[in-house]
Amino acid sequence: MAEQYDLIVIGSGPGGYVCAVRAAQLGLKVAVVEKNESHGGTCLNIGCIPSKALLHTSEMFEEAGHGLEKLGIKVNKPKLDLKGMMAHKDETVKANVDGVAFLFKKNKVDAFHGTGSVAVPGQVLVTSDDGKTETLATKAIVIATGSDSTPLPGVDIDEKTVVTSTGALELTKVPARMIVVGAGVIGLELGSVWRRLGSKVTVVEFLDRILPGIDADVAKQFHRMLRRQGIDFKLGSKVTGVEKVSRALKVSVEPAKGGDTETLDADIVLVSIGRIPYTEGLGLEAAGVETNERGRIKTNGHFQTNVPGIFAIGDVIDGPMLAHKAEDEGVAVAEILAGQAGHVNYDVIPNVVYTEPEVASVGKTEEELKEAGIEYKAGKFPFTANGRARAMNATDGFVKFLADAKTDRVLGVHIVGRGAGEMIHEAAVLMEFGGSSEDLGRTCHAHPTMSEAVREAAMATHFKPIHM
Ligand SMILES: Cc1cc2nc3c(=O)[nH]c(=O)nc-3n(C[C@H](O)[C@H](O)[C@H](O)COP(=O)(O)OP(=O)(O)OC[C@H]3O[C@@H](n4cnc5c(N)ncnc54)[C@H](O)[C@@H]3O)c2cc1C
Repeated sequence: MAEQYDLIVIGSGPGGYVCAVRAAQLGLKVAVVEKNESHGGTCLNIGCIPSKALLHTSEMFEEAGHGLEKLGIKVNKPKLDLKGMMAHKDETVKANVDGVAFLFKKNKVDAFHGTGSVAVPGQVLVTSDDGKTETLATKAIVIATGSDSTPLPGVDIDEKTVVTSTGALELTKVPARMIVVGAGVIGLELGSVWRRLGSKVTVVEFLDRILPGIDADVAKQFHRMLRRQGIDFKLGSKVTGVEKVSRALKVSVEPAKGGDTETLDADIVLVSIGRIPYTEGLGLEAAGVETNERGRIKTNGHFQTNVPGIFAIGDVIDGPMLAHKAEDEGVAVAEILAGQAGHVNYDVIPNVVYTEPEVASVGKTEEELKEAGIEYKAGKFPFTANGRARAMNATDGFVKFLADAKTDRVLGVHIVGRGAGEMIHEAAVLMEFGGSSEDLGRTCHAHPTMSEAVREAAMATHFKPIHM
């Protein structure tokens, strides 16, 4: 064991690489162990970044085919170059993962390629692909090994016709019929991509609503919009099996409450029923690191596991499985290790569905406030009454504010509409500073912008909007 590190991070996803860079910026001697060929984890390689590249390009394709004529622009029917679209996605991924390698170099973070495991507290064993091992010594270990797709019992994934999100980002031709299992964020985003490119998409969801966890009002309106776009839904239903019959797939679907099975035909089945923490090969049991009943590593408020010197962040611990949540935890734990007061405010973590229109939220839903018995007032403003939205032919959706009935402090903001994922951040900043709906309602907003609808919804909560 040559060197003693202050910190070794296992996993270089958004949690791990951000933690390593921040710790190095604060003067710690840092190494990262990554088993994948490239850095960046799920997010940069097979998650956020490639999916957003395909969401953008497929949206451009749809706009060229169906949206421009309404704006007085006549173009010939666009032709799909799927190879070209995938090449753009791959280039985007490469630029991002190379960026992480560059950041490691710039900040003098040592990068080791191999599977990291916790030998004992203070030691990380790196096993390379050819089986060679190396032991590294360190004062602290941060586990940031992320998550994997949840398997569906009775359904074999081959990543060719029965795929997870990873396979759905790599299809070489547009399937005529796609069945998406699960109406969560990933299923709806990737279902939207392939619907725009020409697939007949049917989403099968166990619950009787889409987007569990999102404000029900927003989810209901969004469900209607997706149906109008041509996506079919089978809610309150479960997929119990997928059978390959020559080139097609026969998908067995049953009512969630029980009943007769029906068979749907598909060319591709996308299984997107959630993600599970990934801890394989880490040697947690031997090191005595405790996990909870869902396999997530248990941590205290300072990201420390039950074993001194071992910390964990990101998808592998509790909380929403989101890249920016992992990043913020990475920064916080690095700051704690450097003797500072690192902290994550879990009440203000934005959540975005990058479809068209987008769905974005921060803070509590109306259902959560009701359940907690918190008295609140709600204010809503539709994009149909916003000048910029009319100019862009983007009037679908609304902004909804939820504020404490007595203090007017904003508790939650929910937006469905074009660019919702950008607009949500003014609500996040407002909430981070404990702001009220009156604070936002009295803040001058540039005209004409979609963000004026955010201000008017704040006004609607405190008093009355002008344009309604
Ligand atoms: C299709 C898809 C789209 C998504 N879109 C979004 C989005 O738009 N916005 C968003 O916020 N989130 C999105 N997510 C979720 C996001 O990708 C995750 O929340 C995020 O990547 C979690 O970061 P992490 O650092 O905890 O783990 P990961 O990004 O999963 O990184 C873990 C890393 O650890 C490595 N590793 C695992 N075990 C070991 C080991 N023993 N030794 C060495 N290395 C190891 C893995 O190879 C991996 O590189 C998406 C996910 C998917 C699948």
